[in-house]
Formats: sequence, structure tokens, C-alpha cells
Amino acid sequence: MNERNESSQCTCPDMIIETDGFSDNNPFRIARKQLDEAAAIMNLDHASHEILRWPLRELHVAMPVKMDNGTTRIFHGFRVQYNDARGPNKGGIRFHPDETIDTVRALAAWMTWKTAVLDLPLGGGKGGVICDPKSMSSGELERLSRAYIRQVGRMLGLEKDVPAPDVYTTPQIMAWMADEYSFMQGNNEFGVITGKPIALGGSAGRTDATARGGIYCVRDAAEVIGMNLAGKKAAVQGYGNAGYYAHKLAVDILGMKVVAVSDSKGGIHNPDGLDYTEVIAHKQATGSVNDFPGSSAISNEELLELDVDVLFPSALESVITSTNAANIKARIVAELANGPTTPEADNILYNNGVYVIPDFLCNAGGVTVSYFEMVQNTYGFYWEEEEIHKLLDKKMTAAFLKVHETAGKYSIHNRLAAYIVAIERVVEAMKLRGWV
Ligand code: GLU
Repeated sequence: MNERNESSQCTCPDMIIETDGFSDNNPFRIARKQLDEAAAIMNLDHASHEILRWPLRELHVAMPVKMDNGTTRIFHGFRVQYNDARGPNKGGIRFHPDETIDTVRALAAWMTWKTAVLDLPLGGGKGGVICDPKSMSSGELERLSRAYIRQVGRMLGLEKDVPAPDVYTTPQIMAWMADEYSFMQGNNEFGVITGKPIALGGSAGRTDATARGGIYCVRDAAEVIGMNLAGKKAAVQGYGNAGYYAHKLAVDILGMKVVAVSDSKGGIHNPDGLDYTEVIAHKQATGSVNDFPGSSAISNEELLELDVDVLFPSALESVITSTNAANIKARIVAELANGPTTPEADNILYNNGVYVIPDFLCNAGGVTVSYFEMVQNTYGFYWEEEEIHKLLDKKMTAAFLKVHETAGKYSIHNRLAAYIVAIERVVEAMKLRGWV
């Protein structure tokens, strides 16, 4: 056997991460490190561990798009199908200038754990397009959305892979994508995409579902740690769909006072609380939360370290790291973003007694209502919003309690516990299917 064959047959776990030259904050390094830690605790068999360290499939695409100024620009994008042992791949599509294949791989892995921890009959996938949607016209965005579906459409299908919105993608973008896919198939197949507008087969309760699921988790976390949330302070980092609704529902459902919020351009602070109706109106009018009347300016970094009871990181990956984790003062960190905390920071938070509700549990409300949307599309029968809220609450609470109980059983932090719950379910499916 020559050297090359030998090394390709060597599946010792440490050959993959540490020698691959990933940078510290590379999300895929982080996703794998988390998996490795959980695998060690649960004594996961080698073949199962190895298959879970890789996406099963991924497609890299180039998309020519006609721009408004008459030129043609070539955009690049990806779709990663991480693991579909439990059902069709499921996960959003991000439009972001800093998108990379490793980010999409990590996010697809987290979708696999997310659907498993919620016990949804789905796998995990993710898509991404490298672009700056803020500098594109609506026409350009539509042409890019359609071009993306023309390229990745061959991988999609109700039983194969079902995308949804994510960072900087909207229900309108989902509508264009569902339309393009329907024309490719020659019949309406709205169920292939979730997060659609209601008029096109979207589900009631999908818009605020990500934040609502997280708010139910915060309610449950407060109960298990014996904390009364009414009148307590919260801060929200990120003011997109998840961040805005976290602000609204922390006030409306939990009776909290949200004292600081931020977006990519900066943040605002008012110790007496911020009114969500006024803040969103200001953001819509000016493009940012900055300079909101009656507030003082605060940076995103300062917001994370504020003396609040609940912190909602609701923007992007790797914002709580070994550099700032020791300065986090919140008692509960509710991760509405995907991947906001690095593994090094996780240990610091755990040792400091911070109760972290990990991303793929905390933000799973979105995909859970997406699953309800798929069921409704297939059924051709649509539920009332109240019914969706009830079903979502039941699913989130069951997942929360299972993770909390597992953390107690092994004396580990909640993220590792959530991994153990999810891995057990994915491995059971892979074994039943005869993959390992
Ligand atoms: N993009 C959301 C997430 O990261 C929702 C995914 C979905 O609905 O499929 O969970």
C-alpha cells in the first residue's frame, strides 16, 4: 500500500481538524470541535463519529446575473446537505458578503443537530450566496434568487432538501425561489421552500417563530434556575427578524425590560427600557437603530458585556469568544444567532455559572414552524396561529427539558448536552438504515 492510500485510510479523529489549518474562529472548526467533545463523552463508535464530521453532499455554483447597469456579474454560492438520515435536508439560505463554504458547512451541521434535538423528521442543510444584498436593487435580488434556484434546484425537493430564509433573505425571496422551482418542475411545488408569504402557502406564526421559540426556552430556563423574569433587564444583539421579535416578545410574553439593542451599524442603550414599536419605526426610517431619541450610543461589544439578566445574541457567529466571555454578566444567554459562542468561551461561561441556551435549541422555533409549514403544504389544510403557538411551545419545552436533564445527568454544559441528545437520534437513524 503506498503512502497516499495509507493516509486516506487513516480515520484517526485527530487527523482532520488540527492539521487542516482552520483558523480559531472558523465555524466549521468550531462545529467539529463541539461534535468531538460530545462524541468523547458518549463514547461514540468511530464510524458514526467520522461520518458526522463531514457533509454528505455539497454543491458549489456560479451564477451569472444581469445587473441594472447592463453588466453581467457572476455570483458564487453553495448548498450543503449535511446529513439526511432522519429525513429530507432542511435549512435556510443566507445572502452575505462574508459567506464561505466553511460557514455553510457549519450551519448545515447545526441544522442537523437542530432538527434532531427538536425531534423533527428532518435532516440538516444550508445554502449561502456571496453577495451584499444591501447594495442590490429588488430586481437584482430577484434575478439572483432565481439564478440560485436554477443552479441548486436539482438538489432540492420535498423529499430531498427544503430551504428557508436566513440572514438577509426574506419571505419575498422565498416566493421568487418557490416560483422558479415550480416552473422548473412544471407544476406548483410550494412545499419545497418554507418561510413563504402566507398568500403563497406560508404558515401562520412563521414570522416570529425563531424568537418565540427562544422566548419559550428563556421562560423554561428561568423556571429551572428559580429566576423571576418580570421587570428584569435584557439586551439584544442584532435587530433582524430574530432580534426585533426577541425584543417584542421579551416585553410582551416575559414582561422584561429591554435596555439595549444593536445592529451591524452600532447599538443604543436606555436603562429605563426601549419601546420596540418606536425602535423598529426608527430603524425602518433611517436604516439603523443608531441615534434613537432618548438613548445613548453603545458598541456591539459593550452591549454583550452589559449588566443585564438575559442576553440575546441574535446576529452572527463567534461574537462571544475567549476574549470577552469572562466579562459576560447576564445570568441567561439565549442564543438566537447560529454559532455565536466559541467552544473556549463555552467553558468560561459554564464555569462562571451562566446558563446558556445553545443556538440549535434556542433558535429552533424557526425550523419547527417551517416543518409545520411543510406539513400544511402537503395536507393542503392550514392551522390558526394559536394552534401553531401551542404546537411550537410543546415541541420547544420538550426539547428544552430533555437537554436540561441530559446536562444534569452528565454534569456538562447545555451545548454538549444538546449535542448528545441530537447525536443519539441521528446515529440511531443511521444504524437502522444500515449506514454504520
Ligand atoms: N434559517 C433558520 C435556521 O437557521 C430556519 C431554517 C428553516 O426554517 O429551515 O434555523
